[in-house]
Amino acid sequence: MGETLSFVSFVTKEKASPTHKKEKLMNMTDWTLEPRMREFELGDYLGAAPRWCPSCGNHTVLKCLQKLCKDLNLPPEKTVVVSGIGCSSRLPHHMGTYGFHSLHGRSLPVACGIRARRPDLSIFVVTGDGDCCAIGAGHWLHALRYNMKMTVMLLDNNIYGLTKKQTSPTTPAHTKTNTHPNGAPLDPVNPLATAISMTNASFVAQCVDWLPEHLYNTLLRAQQHPGLAFIRIRQRCPHFMKGHLDAFMNDPNKIQILTDPRGVLPGSLTQTYGTVEHDPTSYDDAMKHARQTDPIPLGLLYLNESALRYDEFTQKGIVTSEEEKLAAIEAELNKFAIL
Ligand code: SF4
Repeated sequence: MGETLSFVSFVTKEKASPTHKKEKLMNMTDWTLEPRMREFELGDYLGAAPRWCPSCGNHTVLKCLQKLCKDLNLPPEKTVVVSGIGCSSRLPHHMGTYGFHSLHGRSLPVACGIRARRPDLSIFVVTGDGDCCAIGAGHWLHALRYNMKMTVMLLDNNIYGLTKKQTSPTTPAHTKTNTHPNGAPLDPVNPLATAISMTNASFVAQCVDWLPEHLYNTLLRAQQHPGLAFIRIRQRCPHFMKGHLDAFMNDPNKIQILTDPRGVLPGSLTQTYGTVEHDPTSYDDAMKHARQTDPIPLGLLYLNESALRYDEFTQKGIVTSEEEKLAAIEAELNKFAIL
């Protein structure tokens, strides 16, 4: 791992003296300074061993993300995974990349801050339903509107797992939790419809943790998107929501694959599940699928490729040298000079 320049091995082999080394470097032709193609292995993206419960859906998401990084050959030092607080937000610890385990609900402002000045990084955000749709909801909506290049994964297990079975914004009504022992009284937030309805949202997709091929293809499609790709991942929490997604796992009629050339590749799923053609650029059709809870629609629901990107504004002048910045400040201050 690590970018290698040809002159490094050249000089080490020679065991040259500092003077000799300098002469050799000066005599080198341009081709010797060309960076070599670096090849990464899956092991380059592995971090600490996960401590999630067995069968937790988070494991699949981690594996798919690591495979994606490897297949796209993303340099680990140019990849950052940002999270908030919750079970799923431990994911950056398990990646061999840079990571930022931030505060509750604050993954998106951190990720937007990184993107504002670092166009060279691949940015992934991991957030849970409590983290994103409750305390982080304001940041979530405005991040969708800013549409800065990143992939945002909402791992939606419909419960607060880390704090032991409290009602989250996406907990289905009547579910008995530790905060509502007689059943959650309100209908849940719909993260898909909320995201699609936000001004300047550009990419909204849905997948499920138990179909890794489709989850991987969704992440891959998101990487090709120039703005913020929001993916809701229906995630199993066998510890606190035992069996709550079993009906969808066990009955192929309860899953529907959305197909379109601009969408997510369905892969082998068409052999098992029903498909429906869907134009993701149609707001009304996207909303119709977003509101559909049974069968669960999987794929790209909404796409707006002409949405403006706020990072194109924040990154203006990013290559300005220190001297140029000082000269500009000086010129500005000179406007107030009293002659
Ligand atoms: Fe996963 Fe639920 Fe266990 Fe948290 S409590 S690690 S979400 S199974």
